[in-house]
Amino acid sequence: MIKSHTILVLGEILVEFVSHTKNCALASIGEYSGPYPSGAPAIFADQAARVGGRAVMVGGLGADGFGRSTLQRLQDDRVDVNQIVMNPELATGVAFVSYFDDGSRDFIYHIAGSAADSFQDADLRPLTGPVVLHVSAASLGSPVIRPRILSALAAVRAAGGKISCDPNARPELMRDQTAREALETVIAHSDILLPSTSDLNYLYPGLSETAALAHLLQGHAGIVALKRGNRGALVIGPDQQFELAPHPVTEIDPTGAGDCFCGTFIGLLTQGFSLFEAGRHANAAGALAVTRRGPMEGNTSLAEIRGLLAVQDAAEPGSF
Ligand code: ATP
Ligand code: MG
Repeated sequence: MIKSHTILVLGEILVEFVSHTKNCALASIGEYSGPYPSGAPAIFADQAARVGGRAVMVGGLGADGFGRSTLQRLQDDRVDVNQIVMNPELATGVAFVSYFDDGSRDFIYHIAGSAADSFQDADLRPLTGPVVLHVSAASLGSPVIRPRILSALAAVRAAGGKISCDPNARPELMRDQTAREALETVIAHSDILLPSTSDLNYLYPGLSETAALAHLLQGHAGIVALKRGNRGALVIGPDQQFELAPHPVTEIDPTGAGDCFCGTFIGLLTQGFSLFEAGRHANAAGALAVTRRGPMEGNTSLAEIRGLLAVQDAAEPGSF
């Protein structure tokens, strides 16, 4: 469906600081590590490029230490950074995260008015061949980024391209009704949907997983991959469905696993991997991602992903 497509991503590029203190709700003095390169769209683009996809990132960074190191990181991982604006007037966007014992998280984002929401519309002219636009829905919470995403969506659709969407509905970022409506518009136009179980609860409160998936599949999308955290993943395509069992790993920092899953999945589909193989690799990449602190630090190469799959194949021949 998206073989040989260039992957286009627009949205917030951030650095993130991770609290080492649990249950602090970001309200008390504690130790943090960072700056880790972050921002859901940027983690996605980085991973899509790391597995060999042609990924173009559109976004903004400050011309400060946070911005320079993040730009360097994306460049080193072979993301096309030609449409990233380095803004000398504005500071790089920042996020802070702290975990609770039950696995939930508290985020504080500094995006509005930072370099993270100050960039130009995507320019499709330099892109060669067909394009798949990936929308990380958290970006739709920004009133400045939202119209840029919607206009890229219209341009990509008009050019015959495809849309993929992670309905990453962070309540902290989706405060107003306009964001919710934009998310519904993007979902309605998406060819590929990559929700997590918590996104299904946000989109269809009270519905079972099966009923919520049926709703998503009634629309335009031909492929849905459901991210189930430590319960693995489920990939549904035309006439096929695969349950992917979780890899047994020790979870250190789950943030970014979903973006890593999506980057792997889309990055491999653009290289002609089958739905099953793209899903299997994405499920392994997501598992590897949670074993490292820092949202983008869990991103991996195809060789590392294959390493984990080989261990699993050796342990359980014939399993997924
Ligand atoms: P985020 O939005 O924080 O980036 P997400 O909620 O979108 O994450 P998850 O479902 O948490 O995404 O994780 C994505 C994928 O990574 C899962 O579908 C699974 O394949 C893998 N994964 C995540 N956590 C674990 C875990 N503890 N053990 C094994 N695999 C995991
Ligand atoms: Mg997610």
